[in-house]
Amino acid sequence: MSNVWSNWSGWVKSWPQAIVKPASEDELCRAMRDAVGPVRVVGSGHSFTPLVESQGTIFDLAQMSGVIDHDNEAKTARIKAGTTIRDLGPLLFDRGMGLANQGDIDRQTIAGAVGTGTHGTGIDLGSISSAVQGFRLVKSDGEVLSASATENPDLFKAGCVSMGSLGIMSEITMKALPVYALEETGGRMQVDEALAQVETLRDAHRHFEFFWFPFADDVIVKFLSETDKEARPRRRKDDGVESKDDKTFRTLCEVSRYLPFLRGPIQKYMTSSSSRYSLSTDAPGRVRWSHDAFPSDRNNRFNEMEYAVPAEVGPDCLREVAVHMKTCGVNFLFPLEYRYVAADDIWISPFYQRDSVTISVHQYHRQPYADLFAGVEKIFRRYEGRPHWGKLHTMKAADFATMYPRWDDFCKLRRELDPQAKMLNPYLKGIFGVV
Ligand SMILES: Cc1cc2nc3c(=O)[nH]c(=O)nc-3n(C[C@H](O)[C@H](O)[C@H](O)COP(=O)(O)OP(=O)(O)OC[C@H]3O[C@@H](n4cnc5c(N)ncnc54)[C@H](O)[C@@H]3O)c2cc1C
Repeated sequence: MSNVWSNWSGWVKSWPQAIVKPASEDELCRAMRDAVGPVRVVGSGHSFTPLVESQGTIFDLAQMSGVIDHDNEAKTARIKAGTTIRDLGPLLFDRGMGLANQGDIDRQTIAGAVGTGTHGTGIDLGSISSAVQGFRLVKSDGEVLSASATENPDLFKAGCVSMGSLGIMSEITMKALPVYALEETGGRMQVDEALAQVETLRDAHRHFEFFWFPFADDVIVKFLSETDKEARPRRRKDDGVESKDDKTFRTLCEVSRYLPFLRGPIQKYMTSSSSRYSLSTDAPGRVRWSHDAFPSDRNNRFNEMEYAVPAEVGPDCLREVAVHMKTCGVNFLFPLEYRYVAADDIWISPFYQRDSVTISVHQYHRQPYADLFAGVEKIFRRYEGRPHWGKLHTMKAADFATMYPRWDDFCKLRRELDPQAKMLNPYLKGIFGVV
């Protein structure tokens, strides 16, 4: 069937009347005026939630890619909204710059990453949205607005995390850093030791995160630290090209899916393949330019829930989540991921005025996730968690109103910009309480 659209995990499918691929802001404005609603815009389709689903029109900005111009003094770049972070890395590098932080992968578009508050890890480092300096937004009536800290400042603070609910961004100005290299180190640590030292580990490196297969007694810590050592180029695999590790992991996912009693031993085996790590014997690691150092390849598909909780309660929340996962009777194999994100002042950012720990729970895409995620979501809510906008959750407008002090301001601005709610699909109507 033509015009079928599916997200990365394959769980969200959509049959829009039209998929429109403008090549310029002008084309986007013209097409927007006549577009049949709901109008949604897709980046790389890597969100797990049905943000992009539409029976009306889906805009795809793949042809609007590249850097428009840059300011080497200010270390800013104007980037076309459909540029993937993967393509952006070398483009910025050639201009002497690198993004201050990135997430686990770099397949997202810059506008898609900004749209959901996508983040990496680092206690002093905000999400990708927090590095936005300005943007141009095409409203549902085709009019274009510019926003920055000084021009339409409310739209700026609302728009930096807005899931395409206010309009479609045609370009984004990002703050970057002078090019820098990162050294990757880490290994296996006893879980109690890692959690007892979590703040020391966090403060000793620019980026710190760890993965925990809950049935294992060790976690796998990963650090990225800025270095003057010589960076080696990285050869990236093409889309869909699997490594030996990818194939092994997928086989283990299938084995544990059919033989659930093996999930504990498999999780211990997966953890034991890393070498042991101690702070006092931090061995030298791989050195890469930042845009090559951040991303991993994720070729085994999964669904994911992630909540941001106040940083200080992260370890307690994580322990409860792990105990629940081990005792709830639902079969799973993927590890938990634990990261830090600095507070920002973006109205509906999960990190609004709060230094946060994010905890992610993953489920292999061929296994049901609802029961597993429902149990951990109750724990996240007790810890005052806020869900990642691109990852699965069951929260609705009334819940968000209690999480975000500026929620009503955001909803009011959204109504002013798009009174007919042309930009909202049924899922987003539930989020914003629009009937
Ligand atoms: C394998 C994998 C790894 C991931 N790793 C991380 C991670 O490390 N950290 C993290 O925080 N998240 C992570 N995510 C989640 C992912 O970063 C977010 O869901 C992100 O939004 C996806 O970007 P995208 O380009 O695919 O956008 P999409 O999923 O296509 O869209 C996301 C939102 O942005 C909106 N949008 C897209 N383009 C525009 C535009 N031009 N103007 C306005 N709105 C727009 C869409 O309408 C939608 O609401 C991961 C997801 C996957 C599948």
